Amino acid sequence: MEEMQASEYIIYTDMDGTLVDHDTYSYDAALPALELINKKNIPLIFCTSKTRAELEVYCHKLDIHHPFISENGGAIFIPLDYFDFPYDHTKQIDNYNVIELGVGYNILESNLKEICAKIDCQVIGFGDMDVDEVCQDTGLDRECAALAKQRDYDEAFRIKSPAPKDELLEQEIRKRGFNYTKGGRYYHIMGNNDKGKAVHILTDLYRTKWPGVKTIGLGDSLNDLPMLMAVDIGILVQKPDGNYDPSITSPNIKQGTGIGPKGWNQELINILE
Ligand SMILES: [Mg+2]
Repeated sequence: MEEMQASEYIIYTDMDGTLVDHDTYSYDAALPALELINKKNIPLIFCTSKTRAELEVYCHKLDIHHPFISENGGAIFIPLDYFDFPYDHTKQIDNYNVIELGVGYNILESNLKEICAKIDCQVIGFGDMDVDEVCQDTGLDRECAALAKQRDYDEAFRIKSPAPKDELLEQEIRKRGFNYTKGGRYYHIMGNNDKGKAVHILTDLYRTKWPGVKTIGLGDSLNDLPMLMAVDIGILVQKPDGNYDPSITSPNIKQGTGIGPKGWNQELINILE
């Protein structure tokens, strides 16, 4: 690979409700900033609950050839030859070096089922839904829903039982050493990983190359909090109703102006222009 042009920034971004609209999954409102990022050769790193298969579609559509972080920090996928120095990674698959931080999906799914039986909590997870049900629940088309079901490190689920079963569920998940978080649509059970841990590891690799590089992170929900705390400039975009996620209150995180991709666009243009 040719020498990467040094960049002043790297940008980590959540997808659903942040770069892409919560309901329509469109990123049209973010196109001006996307163009600017492309022009300035700034690495744009997807950091999301989405699966590797879903992210590869976005990489293709947006012509992005940078590393990405899937399933709430479950793994970092780095294109082979992206960094011109050796670094620790778990394995090589296809055209990536993979740094695995998460726990296998089957372990998560079986622990979730055991816990739910133990505390008598009703949940419905991606593993319980067929492709049509995922379509219906997410508004994704069939093709995208099938890619969303290809989960390796994170089970996404809804809680059917009324409160306070959710609190009990969180306690039991944490007692077993797993992480629990919430995105725009779903709760998540995962290993001892989160978006922030993955961001730290990847940022260290970039700083080996570009010591002074500054990091920006954008998100909309609780599962973004560790990422927003792990970057130099953390930006929270507005939810579809115009509010900010009430669980994110750190004064170090900027409340951006604009809902989802509109806020994403405006805040990045303000910084980069
Ligand atoms: Mg989101």
